[in-house]
Amino acid sequence: MSPWAARRLTVLVRELGRILGSCTVSTQPLISMTGVTKQYGGAAGPSVALRDVSLEITRGEFVAIIGKSGSGKTTLINLLTGIDSPSAGIIRVGSTDVHALGHEDLSSWRGRSVGIVFQFFQLLPTLTVAENMMLPMDFCRTYPARERRARALGLLAQMGIADEADKLPTALSGGQQQRAAIARALANDPPLIVADEPTGNLDSRTAEEVMEFFAHLVNSGKTVVMVTHERDLERYCARSIALSDGALGRPDATQSRSRAKA
Ligand code: ADP
Ligand code: MG
Repeated sequence: MSPWAARRLTVLVRELGRILGSCTVSTQPLISMTGVTKQYGGAAGPSVALRDVSLEITRGEFVAIIGKSGSGKTTLINLLTGIDSPSAGIIRVGSTDVHALGHEDLSSWRGRSVGIVFQFFQLLPTLTVAENMMLPMDFCRTYPARERRARALGLLAQMGIADEADKLPTALSGGQQQRAAIARALANDPPLIVADEPTGNLDSRTAEEVMEFFAHLVNSGKTVVMVTHERDLERYCARSIALSDGALGRPDATQSRSRAKA
C-alpha cells in the first residue's frame, strides 16, 4: 500500500470511529443506575432501603416500578430525581451525573429535566391551579414571563380542566387535582416524567384516564417511570422492574411486554 493510501485509510478509520462513537452516544440509555445503595440512619440503627441496584431505562420507555409496600420504590424514585442522595453508586440521567450534583445544581437540573407526579398531588393550597403551574416556569425561567400563563392554560386545557385554572386546588376533585399536577409536571417540557403511585388516590376510571394520558406522553416521545402496586395498571407499561426488600426482583419478575394502546 502506498503511503498516500495508508494515510487515507487512517483518516477513513478515524472518521468511521467518530461516526460509530456518536452512534454509541445516541443509543445510550436515558437513565442508568449502577450499584446504587441507600441506607437510612435511625434510632433503631441503620436500615438499607435499596441494595446494589443497577438498571437502565431507554428514552421513550414506559416503565413500571412494582413491589410491596416498603420494598424501596419511593426511595428509588427519590434518588432518580435527586430528591435524596444515594449512600453509594452512580445515577446518570442523560449526560448528568445526578448523584454528584450539589443542592442548587440539583434543583435547577430537576426543574428542567424531570416532571414529578406524587400520589397526593402536592399542589400548593394557597395558589390557584394556574399559579401552581407557573411556579416551575418561574423558577427555571424556561419560558418568558409573558408566555407562562398562556402555557399553563394550554396544558390545563390538554388535561381537560381549563375551567379550573383560577380556582384553589381544594375546590377540585382528586382526579382534577392529579390532572393539574400532571400539567404542572409538564410545565417545563421535561423529557422525563416520574410518578410515585400517581393513581393511588384515584377511582379506577380516573386512574385509567391518567394511565392513558401517560401512554400518550410516551407516544409523543417522553420517558415515563411510574411506581405502582396496582398490578392491573402494569399493562400500560412496556416493562416492569420489580423491587423486593430493596433489591431488584428475580429476573422473571422483570418483564417486557408490548405496549398497550392508549
Ligand atoms: P415503598 O415506596 O416501596 O413503600 P420506601 O422506599 O418508602 O418503600 O421505603 C423503603 C424502606 O426504607 C422502608 O423500610 C422504609 O421504612 C425505609 N425508609 C424510607 N424512608 C425512610 C427515611 N426517611 N428514614 C428511615 N427509613 C426510611
Ligand atoms: Mg412509596
